[in-house]
Amino acid sequence: MPTPRHYLDHAATTPMRQSAVDAWVEHAGAMNPGGQYTSGRAARRVLDDARDLIAGLLGADPAEVIFTASGTEADNLAVTGLYRASDRARVVSTPIEHPAVLGPVKALGLSGAEVELLPVGSDGRVADLGALDIPAAVACCMWANNETGALQPIDRVIERASGAGTPVHVDAVQVVGHLPVDFHALGATTLAASAHKFGGPRSAGLLLAKRSPAPLPVLHGGGQERGIRPGTLDVASAAAMAAALEEAVGEIPSEAVRLAALRERLREGILGRVGDVLVHTTEPALPGHLHLSFPGAEGDSLIMLLDAAGIEASTGSACASGVNRASHVLLAQGVSEHDTRGAVRFTLGRTTTVGDVEAVLGVIAEVVERARLAGMAG
Ligand code: PLP
Repeated sequence: MPTPRHYLDHAATTPMRQSAVDAWVEHAGAMNPGGQYTSGRAARRVLDDARDLIAGLLGADPAEVIFTASGTEADNLAVTGLYRASDRARVVSTPIEHPAVLGPVKALGLSGAEVELLPVGSDGRVADLGALDIPAAVACCMWANNETGALQPIDRVIERASGAGTPVHVDAVQVVGHLPVDFHALGATTLAASAHKFGGPRSAGLLLAKRSPAPLPVLHGGGQERGIRPGTLDVASAAAMAAALEEAVGEIPSEAVRLAALRERLREGILGRVGDVLVHTTEPALPGHLHLSFPGAEGDSLIMLLDAAGIEASTGSACASGVNRASHVLLAQGVSEHDTRGAVRFTLGRTTTVGDVEAVLGVIAEVVERARLAGMAG
């Protein structure tokens, strides 16, 4: 009999919701929404409905919704585009951003921008906002960290940067669909989201972008999406993203409570069964995140042993070409390189049950013991 699977990597991607699949299939044949004839106008109506629904759910105006092909694209567009729209040559960010933000920030640094990264405390949150008082072309801060789940003091970041007249980009890829978002109340200039993190299709994202200052385009082409993001739009994905978001936003109050309780059960259970565990997730955090280190074990061994037991989790850090590097997020919050190597991230989501949590608790002591023995031998 095949080993039953327990998927605990919802922060990486979460299964598509049936409502999203249905919307996707229904509109798979949609034509170019830029067409001025009947089939084009029909596609345009579906796109407009999706845009209106998403805007309403996120506290934005429909014109502020820019469809992109991923969260990565939305982040790149905001960081690079806001920088290019400014006559300043300074960028402020944090060392714990996702590579989709850190990458363009570094690229701007290489092309002559002055880059300053806010310091991060041992709780995984930006600790000193002083660098935001000096005007910059753009300040970028994630709302919730994808590894630890730590919520950043995003209101204070925006207030402080705005005080210096600096536009702010918020990477909300882990937050949208999981916590309430009101773009206008937040006061950010741009905000990135990704459909596959809340049950929409993969490779579909969006950027909320205020009218002014607006990012300059990074891709050049037709005038779609206010000229900010040219390219023929994927109507089916936009409709599927809107359907998924509507369902996800409706479930936020109940899911936040349910997942936090399951996560607590997992955390307590692991701490009760395994000695010498470092817990990297501290409150306030996303309800479904639990990031831990088992010093002495290699993350890769832990993941493989868990996988063999039917449990799908990750080390949490982005891995390039299969090589697992020490997490830049954990290093930034002061975790030693040795301890980062034994990191495992469990992320719970919509399909997670008590059975999934119990499955981890049933094997975790043996998995860690075996990985620690392998670590000592290595
Ligand atoms: N930003 C954060 C915080 C993320 O967690 C991710 C995905 O892991 C991204 C950006 C990139 O999103 P996408 O996978 O849609 O390119």
